[in-house]
Amino acid sequence: MLLVKNIKKLVQVEDEPRRKVSGKEMSSLPFIDNAWLLINGNLIEDFGRMEDLPVRLRELASAERHKGPSGTEAGGKVSSGGKRGDAPSATEQGRDAPEIGRSADIPSGEKNAGSGRPAGEKGNTTDPLRVLDASGKLVFPSFCDSHTHLVYAGSREIEYIDKIRGLSYEEIAKRGGGILNSAKLLQQTPEDELYRQSLERVEEIIKLGTGAVEIKSGYGLTTADEIKMLRVIRRLRDTTPLIIRSSFLGAHALPAEYKGRREEYVDVVVNEMVPMVAEEGLADYIDVFCDRGFFSVQDTERILEAGNKYGLRGKIHANELDYSGGIQVGVRYNALSVDHLEFTGQDEIEALLASDTMPTLLPGAAFFLGMEYPPARKMIGSGLPVAMASDYNPGSSPSGNMKFIMSLGCIKLKMVPEEVINAVTINGACAMGVEGTAGSIARGKRANIYITKSIPGHEFMPYAYGSDLIDTVILNGEVQVR
Ligand SMILES: [Zn+2]
Repeated sequence: MLLVKNIKKLVQVEDEPRRKVSGKEMSSLPFIDNAWLLINGNLIEDFGRMEDLPVRLRELASAERHKGPSGTEAGGKVSSGGKRGDAPSATEQGRDAPEIGRSADIPSGEKNAGSGRPAGEKGNTTDPLRVLDASGKLVFPSFCDSHTHLVYAGSREIEYIDKIRGLSYEEIAKRGGGILNSAKLLQQTPEDELYRQSLERVEEIIKLGTGAVEIKSGYGLTTADEIKMLRVIRRLRDTTPLIIRSSFLGAHALPAEYKGRREEYVDVVVNEMVPMVAEEGLADYIDVFCDRGFFSVQDTERILEAGNKYGLRGKIHANELDYSGGIQVGVRYNALSVDHLEFTGQDEIEALLASDTMPTLLPGAAFFLGMEYPPARKMIGSGLPVAMASDYNPGSSPSGNMKFIMSLGCIKLKMVPEEVINAVTINGACAMGVEGTAGSIARGKRANIYITKSIPGHEFMPYAYGSDLIDTVILNGEVQVR
C-alpha cells in the first residue's frame, strides 16, 4: 500500500463518480485541502483530510518511520524534483498537519524507487505501507489524452518550414505531403522499429503526466499497414503502464493510387479493413477524417455503419476545415466523440446538445498550424461538456504535452483553469470511454496520478505554461522514473 500524505490540495476528488461535466459545472473543481490518499495495489482505495486520517493508517505510517528505509534499495532517483528544496517545508498546510505529518521523513520518490517499472508487488503477502510526503504539493488525476496519432515513423520538421513559409495544410496535402508523407515512411518501417519509435513517445508522455491515451491508426492506408499500426498500439498497451484505447482510422487520407476514386478506397475500408481489424480485436473505436478535401458525410456514414456492425463506436475528426456536416453525422451515429470542431455554429451546438457525444477540442493543432480556434466559450455557455486532447501527430501537433494544452485552453479558448482541468481529466476520460477507471480521484479507480512540485495552487499549472511542474508520476500505484 502507498500512502500519500500532507497533500496541499487533492484535486478532482469524487465521492460519487460522474461520467462527465457540462456547461456551468465545468467551472467547479472538487478538491480537498490538506489531504491524504491511500493506494492499494493498482487502485485508489481511499482519501480524506489529514485530520481525519484513520488511526490504522497513522499507526502503520508511524511503524514505517521506525522501520526506516531498510529493506528498500533506493536505487535510481525517481524524480528530479524531489531532490531540490521543494520537499517538506513549513507551508501553511504543513503547520496545520497533525504530528504524523512529520513522521515519514521520506522525500517524495525516494522510498520505492527500485527500477521504476510496473513490476507488481512480487507476491508480497504483508504488503508494507510506503509513505510519500506531499507537503506543499498538489495531487491530480493523470491526464486523459483522448485523441492522438502517436504511432508514426520519422518526423516532418522539413514540412514545418513549408508551413512557416505560408503553405496551407490543404496545399501541402495536395503536393503529396502531409499525411501521405507519413504513410509512405510508415509503410517502409518494420513493425519492431515502429514500436521502438512509438515507445519513446509513450515514455515521454508518461513523464508529462498522461495516464490514459487513445491512439489511432491512419498512416498505413493499406490493409496490411493499418493492421501493423494497430498491432503496435496493442503492443504498447501490453508493455506499458498506460491505459490505452485504439481507434481504426483507415479513412485518414486518400492514398495517392486512389486519386479520383475515393469511393473505391472507402469500399476497401468498409469491405476489407473493418472486418479484419474487428476479427483480430485490434480496435476499440472507428474514426473517419470527415472534412472538406478528405472524406464526405456519405463516406463517413458508410464507414460508421460498417464499424457499428462490429461494435466499433465512432470517434471522428469533424469540422476542422469547414462546416462539413461531420458533427451532425457523428451525432446521428452516436459517436463517442467528435473532435477538432473549429467550425462549430448554432446548428452543430444544437445537434451536440441532443446527444451523448463528447465535443473534443484539439487546440495544439490550431496553435501549430496558425488556424482558427474552436468556439469553446460558446459551447460551454450553451451547456455542452468539452474535452481537450493533444492530437499528438507529426504533421499538425508534434507534442503530447497536456499541460501545454491546458495553457492553450486558457489563453486561446478563454477557458478558466477549472474548466481546462475538467476538460483534460474527467471529460477526456469520457471521450475515450475510460471514465469508469480514470479521470478523477475516486475510490476503486486506477491509481494513475501525479504529484506536482511545490506550487501555489491548481491555477499555476496552466499559468506557468513552459515549466515542468510534475514531481512524481504514479501509474497503477507504482512510482515511475522521470
Ligand atoms: Zn487527429
